[in-house]
Amino acid sequence: MYFVDPHIHMVSRTTDDYETLAKMGCVALSEPAFWAGFDRGSVESFRDYFRQLTEFEPKRAAQYGIQHFTWLCINAKEAENVALSREVIAMIPEFLDRPNVLGIGEIGLNKNTRNEATIFLEHVELAIAQHQQILIHTPHLEDKFQGTRMILDMLCGDSRVQRHRVLVDHVEEHTIGPVLDAGFWAGMTLYPVTKCTPGRAADMIERYGCERLMANSAGDWGPSKPTAVPDLILELRRRGHKESAIRQVVYENPRKFFSQSKHFNFVAPDA
Ligand SMILES: [Zn+2]
Repeated sequence: MYFVDPHIHMVSRTTDDYETLAKMGCVALSEPAFWAGFDRGSVESFRDYFRQLTEFEPKRAAQYGIQHFTWLCINAKEAENVALSREVIAMIPEFLDRPNVLGIGEIGLNKNTRNEATIFLEHVELAIAQHQQILIHTPHLEDKFQGTRMILDMLCGDSRVQRHRVLVDHVEEHTIGPVLDAGFWAGMTLYPVTKCTPGRAADMIERYGCERLMANSAGDWGPSKPTAVPDLILELRRRGHKESAIRQVVYENPRKFFSQSKHFNFVAPDA
């Protein structure tokens, strides 16, 4: 089955991972900007990172027949440096016309601090001013519920935000309901053991249905598995879900959501 991974950090993966993804049916992926594992020192570091995301990674992906799309921002973990964050936000428009850029992301909260909220809102302002879609990171573990609540309150308090153009990622059982109820798209991030497993994601699909819901692997520097979406496909097949429903979650939904960006020039392999 073809699939799209809507949230995977390929800069932290090897070319072998691209090959494996392609063999398993991955035909497109989207890579939000994220933390490098260390705080970057200057705006120039981000300029280089955005060049990597818009110049180098699309070429690496194309060698395996995978279309590469990306999102730009400064990650919440670096938002405590408000001055640097503002320099990065001011620089982002230089890249918004690049052909694989879908929007602003992954913005959000990490420890739910005041500075993080300030920089989150300034990213939202940028997205609105530039008519960009938004991809959102919600905090992990004990900070998730409160952080997701804060993010939803900030977004729902601004009538200019078009909720059908916002994807809220890393939802879990206690946050998926409010995200979908408010009209946003929701992404379940699959991890092999901790956090959301393929089994838990399948449970959420059974409870909430397939509308506005997708699944991703995160595939980052930490313990994660770039082929987690195929694991979910397998889990859903084991449970007897229809192929059409599985295909909606792992292939049709990401395409439908991304199609709201003028740069999503995806060509289906079976078109
Ligand atoms: Zn991420």
